[in-house]
Formats: sequence, C-alpha cells, structure tokens
Amino acid sequence: MKDCKVNILGTEYNVFFRNEKDDERLDGKYRDGYTDNSTHEIIICNKKDDCELEDYEGWKKSILRHELIHAFLFESGLDSSSVSTCGAWAVNEEMVDWFAIQSPKICKVFNELDLL
Ligand SMILES: [Zn+2]
Repeated sequence: MKDCKVNILGTEYNVFFRNEKDDERLDGKYRDGYTDNSTHEIIICNKKDDCELEDYEGWKKSILRHELIHAFLFESGLDSSSVSTCGAWAVNEEMVDWFAIQSPKICKVFNELDLL
C-alpha cells in the first residue's frame, strides 16, 4: 500500500503511510494510525521494529478501514454530537472497530445480493 487520495463524502483525504519515528503523533503513542479531520489526513503506521504480527499488510488494511470509518462519521456530522452514557457513540473505538472489521463482510453480502 502506498500514499493515496480518497474521496470521503465529497471531501478529499490524503492517506499517508509513515514510519513511527517520523511522526510525533505515532512515536511512542501506542497507536497504529490516526485521522486528522482538521487537515483531512489519514496516517497509517508502517510496521514497527518490535511488531510481531506476521501479516502486517493485512493489519494495515484493517487499520485503514478503521480510520476511514472515523472519516466517514466525521464527514457525516456524527463525530461529536452522538453522546450516550459511555461517551459519544461515533468516536467509540469498539463501535468503529466493529464497522472496520465487519464492513468487508457487509459489502460482500450487498454485492452478492446486487444491492450496490
Ligand atoms: Zn479510532
């Protein structure tokens, strides 16, 4: 995977793949990616020196799906006005992970049923 641009509901986002040490918001922050809605940038961390995952390319795709869901929710106006008892649902990491993990399966079913 390499740097690219993606259209999120009419807004162009730049996707960058960076080494942990080259980005202060990655370096030592225990995260593999983040979305900066103010600059419309999605940053995905390249494999860290101490990472033991065998399929890091697959892992990077799941991170990117996660960050894309954050961007879709932000561009939908759902980022900060979704308060529930456990905080705003649209910035809840578990909910975002659910979308990021399940969306390929959902899209597969939609394709099988010719719903797209
Ligand atoms: Zn997140």
